[in-house]
Amino acid sequence: MRHTKVKDLLNSTTTLQEVNAKGWVRTFRNNQFIALNDGSTINNIQCVVDFENTPEETLKRITTGAAVSVIGTLVESKGAGQKYEIQVNKLEILGDSDAEKFPMQPKKHSLEFLRENAHLRVRTNAFGAIMRVRSVLSYAVHSYFQQKGFVYVNTPIITGADAEGAGEMFQVTSLPLDNLPKNEEGNIDFKEDFFGKHTNLTVSGQLEGETFAMALGQIYTFGPTFRAENSNTSRHLAEFWMIEPEVAFNDLDDNMDLAEDFIQYVIKYALDNCGDDLKFLEGRLLEEEKSKPQADRSEMPLLEKLNFVLENNFKRVSYTEAIDILRDSTPNKKKKFSYLINEWGADLQSEHERYLVEKHFKCPVILYDYPANIKAFYMRLNDNTEPGRETVRAMDILFPGIGEIVGGSEREERYDVLVQKMEALGIDKEELYWYLDTRRFGSATHAGFGLGFERLVLFVTGMTNIRDVIPFPRTPGSAEF
Ligand code: ATP
Ligand code: MN
Repeated sequence: MRHTKVKDLLNSTTTLQEVNAKGWVRTFRNNQFIALNDGSTINNIQCVVDFENTPEETLKRITTGAAVSVIGTLVESKGAGQKYEIQVNKLEILGDSDAEKFPMQPKKHSLEFLRENAHLRVRTNAFGAIMRVRSVLSYAVHSYFQQKGFVYVNTPIITGADAEGAGEMFQVTSLPLDNLPKNEEGNIDFKEDFFGKHTNLTVSGQLEGETFAMALGQIYTFGPTFRAENSNTSRHLAEFWMIEPEVAFNDLDDNMDLAEDFIQYVIKYALDNCGDDLKFLEGRLLEEEKSKPQADRSEMPLLEKLNFVLENNFKRVSYTEAIDILRDSTPNKKKKFSYLINEWGADLQSEHERYLVEKHFKCPVILYDYPANIKAFYMRLNDNTEPGRETVRAMDILFPGIGEIVGGSEREERYDVLVQKMEALGIDKEELYWYLDTRRFGSATHAGFGLGFERLVLFVTGMTNIRDVIPFPRTPGSAEF
């Protein structure tokens, strides 16, 4: 007999049929009621064991974490909380779980403890829900772009470009670290290395993505990205997944429209397809926030917050307007910011971003037209900017509770302007000749952005630490599993 997923059993339209369910025991109460979960849904199916006719030996082995197979009759449940249950006729223990040793006991565990047990935390309600939502969101990402005719591009993970400029890089080498070959100048001779040159793990697929947009029109990447971020924050991982669309003939306004429409689509998709999981996560968040002071609690329950993002346009604010707001803000005047905003040109820290989103606008914000000298070399210089106050067509999308979720720009499509910028910043033109070729042959206006997938998952699940929305987080000092 083939087993049926718990999700399908709970959605069943007929009862009194013989069914087989397989899963892991969450709890076993009164020597009679098994709450069985198989990962197909947050909901357990209750399996009622005929304890009088089941050997004591077997009953003892029904412990939290054990894998079991039950065969029985699907009946309407008399108990509260579930529609159906299984009246067990035959029970088989597939894999024992020593109750004394299994770390995932049916009680509240701290998120820190669960992180240390990332291989088992997925057996809890919360992490099962998070990982299902993550999976659905990643499907929604592909579904959005594929429906719109974007081409999915796999940009390289090992890159020969040293100057992607998005963050600190991890180096890739097969040279013996205890016996590095040296050249005549006494430096490491990367000609002897695997690729015959110095290589890194990618920090962004954008530059390669642009070359494809300049042929295929609309492209997107969705892949792993690596940054040797030495800061230990709740929003940074050393290995994360990034989505990077790039579109020929789009300007910055088109880019903002695309980002907003895309984010709203994937959130809607999660609301439509992860109802049970999101409802559970909403409850989890309310519970977690009970122990926090009122001021630190979310303004809205999770589902309301997600619907709010769907129903309201993102507020578009120029950097210059944002600086004026921040300069006049109470935390700035009362010197509550760690970095005070005194003048135009200041880089915005996450405290400023969060003030704008959470206190001032109270909705997602798109900041655009940043000072040229705090942004990357490839961003398009605005026409008609005052000397000394040059701005670029950059945009960052800021979300409540998260801060920056998207960074993007219209790209500098003018060869001469781009070269000048690279020279001023000391970026090697020879090394990036292939990037410059996009501007030498058939250059055109184009724009794109990068969205950190885990920050999106954070927002949708209402979790607060990025380590809790990726299966096995990589952070400074930690690469367990
Ligand atoms: P931040 O200022 O938060 O460090 P960034 O300016 O370095 O972000 P970008 O280089 O613009 O970010 O990358 C695009 C997006 O990738 C960001 O908006 C964010 O969502 C995500 N991102 C960047 N760095 C990380 C990281 N270390 N871990 C997880 N996501 C990240
Ligand atoms: Mn960064």
